[in-house]
Amino acid sequence: MSLNFKDYIRVILDYPQPGIRFKDITTLLKDGPAYRAAIEEMRKLVEHLQIDVIAGPEARGFVVGAPLALALGVGFVPIRKPGKLPGETIEAGYNLEYGKDSLAMHKDAIQPGQRVLIADDLLATGGTIATSINLVRQLGGEIVGAAFLIELTYLTGREKLDGIEVASLINYD
Ligand code: 5GP
Repeated sequence: MSLNFKDYIRVILDYPQPGIRFKDITTLLKDGPAYRAAIEEMRKLVEHLQIDVIAGPEARGFVVGAPLALALGVGFVPIRKPGKLPGETIEAGYNLEYGKDSLAMHKDAIQPGQRVLIADDLLATGGTIATSINLVRQLGGEIVGAAFLIELTYLTGREKLDGIEVASLINYD
């Protein structure tokens, strides 16, 4: 199935703050064939990377990363807000497009040398993903790429990503 995935994204003005044009992916997710096709297209973009495990930040990174992991037959590791993971964790702070936050991972989530793909719904400034990369590298994982449903290319977030391979399905320039 060949779809124009942008048609399934709803743009909401002034959310969560005035001046932001929020890309709402729930309109894609609720459409079964479109959601499945989007994950399948993402799978094709990253299948050559010999991925051992996918790591994705909460919460929208889960709805992209977990089905992508299933499609590839690899594991999924959640990257969460501090206080949400029950085991021993490491943490790192970051700036969002609108605000500040921290992320955490279980210390034993990644085995040293594992080839890790980071997945999220959207690449904006790159802060979330740069922090996710930092956490995975602290655990000894090798970052082999980053995959997104949406890339806001005008925010040049990929420049923060150390030249790692970036795959995105939908672009806004
Ligand atoms: P960054 O850290 O790259 O600046 O922002 C990306 C993170 O913020 C992602 O985890 C994403 O879920 C969230 N985000 C920022 N802007 C948007 C948006 O317009 N739409 C959606 N769905 N998520 C956004």
